Amino acid sequence: MELDRHRDLGEIGDLGLTLSEAKQLLVRVQQELVAAQARDHAVLRPECPSCSGGCQVKDWQHHAVATLFGVVAVRLPRFRCIRCGHNATGVGWQSHCRSTPELDQLRAHLSALMPFRVAAGVLSHLLPVAAGMSPETLRSHTLKIGERLRAAPAINQAVAASRITVTTDSTFIRSRDDGERQLEVRVGNVETVEGGRQVFGAVARSDTDIAVLIRRSLDAVGRTASSTVTAFTDGCAGLQATLADAGVTKQPIADWFHIAMRLQHAKLAASGLSTDAPDRMAAKTAIVAEVERLHWRIWNGKAKDAQITFDRIRKVMHVYKGERGHRTRGVASRKLWHALHEIDSYLRGQSARLVNYAERYRAGLRVGTSVTEGTANFLVNRRMNKSQQMRWSRRGADLLLQVRCAVYNGALGSGFGQRFEPLGHSGAELALAA
Ligand SMILES: [Zn+2]
Repeated sequence: MELDRHRDLGEIGDLGLTLSEAKQLLVRVQQELVAAQARDHAVLRPECPSCSGGCQVKDWQHHAVATLFGVVAVRLPRFRCIRCGHNATGVGWQSHCRSTPELDQLRAHLSALMPFRVAAGVLSHLLPVAAGMSPETLRSHTLKIGERLRAAPAINQAVAASRITVTTDSTFIRSRDDGERQLEVRVGNVETVEGGRQVFGAVARSDTDIAVLIRRSLDAVGRTASSTVTAFTDGCAGLQATLADAGVTKQPIADWFHIAMRLQHAKLAASGLSTDAPDRMAAKTAIVAEVERLHWRIWNGKAKDAQITFDRIRKVMHVYKGERGHRTRGVASRKLWHALHEIDSYLRGQSARLVNYAERYRAGLRVGTSVTEGTANFLVNRRMNKSQQMRWSRRGADLLLQVRCAVYNGALGSGFGQRFEPLGHSGAELALAA
């Protein structure tokens, strides 16, 4: 291949290789390299796997293999033992193998981070891999890797972890099946004070057993018999049973993240209350202070006193009777009432799992998930809920989630993935809110 570029550099666009030239070049280099490897390979005479006798070439076989730099044609000999007639291939890979592991991993990695259609576009834009790059191909390859990851054994961490935190959460994605509108997705995060971290996730009632995933994650961060494991949940009763299945038997704590989210809604609604009359101005001041006090009460383990807040607010709420709604924000008093109702029912449902968060925080202990936007959001919603048009099959969603977790855990091949940065004291943002 000959490359000829403009001699004068009057235009910056003429500087160096273009993408299309680079692609062509890579294809040619790859083809030459593979041809040379095939020639070298053909003169090797493997030992018979059965009698250790000498082999001779029986026939030749053609393989078309997709690589990062184009599809290559490989002609490889098949061998037969001179002494016992046993067949040998001389290669470790199977004859139906159609792509290299590096290409498989890159396809899965990109598909875990963006829609299949976008991933296919990025790959064919940057690499000479036009063939076999349809979104459908990408999907089937990615799900295959997901299956492999699901069956992967636990990799035990050599360093024992003294304290481990497990946070679990659940979210919903839209179902493709006619029978069901939504699929429940359960996710979680395992962290150690030493900085080890793993995420896990599975679609409910899929072939993935989430208890197995939790066990595997705990092993991966170095759980031993002497590790202290503390679990945080969003309040879903099913997850508590699952945690027990995974060997986490201590009563879980209600994750501060989920309480803080609900308090935030109430605060926003309170700050939006109208002050168009003197009595409303006074009521708003009182309500804003009461919501702050409610926050303080729950943070300090006095959730039982929340009823006092609700009663006091109820007493002054009548001044908002007939409040006119904002064009886009709606009626603030109604939203406040709804937010307070949400907090009330959450506190009632979680009463056994509420603790003195302030005390824990002062003792340097965790109060909830360290992922500021919540594990469910960053693990599931960012990729699988963004667009309302995305609909998922139970199997497809579950297997893609396995790949997504592997990417975040840095477990997708060697040198792949974006390992989590070790977190120092990650309760800081949560405490700040308090
Ligand atoms: Zn033999």
